[in-house]
Amino acid sequence: MADADCLFCRITSRQVKADIVAETGELLAIKDSNPQAPTHLLVIPKEHIPTLADATDGHTVLLGSALQLANQLARQHQLSQGGYRVVVNTGAEAGQSVFHLHVHLLGGRPFRWPPG
Ligand code: AMP
Ligand code: ZN
Repeated sequence: MADADCLFCRITSRQVKADIVAETGELLAIKDSNPQAPTHLLVIPKEHIPTLADATDGHTVLLGSALQLANQLARQHQLSQGGYRVVVNTGAEAGQSVFHLHVHLLGGRPFRWPPG
């Protein structure tokens, strides 16, 4: 169910503009508007799921598809050989700021571990 107050619902329903790089029946991938790496994309399920903690067994295929789209986008952006980072910030303490589940794909620079 779309949430009228949710930014990513408004993006997936095209009420708010975004730089779209891929779309499937269930997912939209966009460029992050405040990129933290040379490539910074977001894979967003069209379904409004606030956080990964809200996902259920019924979302298993959707979650797999989101990761697989991130994998395909990483290949398209020539990130697969050097490496890239996939992040799902879950909850305020983890730094989640948009409460509609999304997968960050970051690449094109080295990353440190542990993250901040
Ligand atoms: P998170 O902090 O994990 O919830 O990530 C939310 C991400 O959405 C951040 O990296 C923001 O830069 C990004 N973001 C916020 N508003 C927009 C927007 N209108 N278009 C694209 N990305 C956005
Ligand atoms: Zn939403």
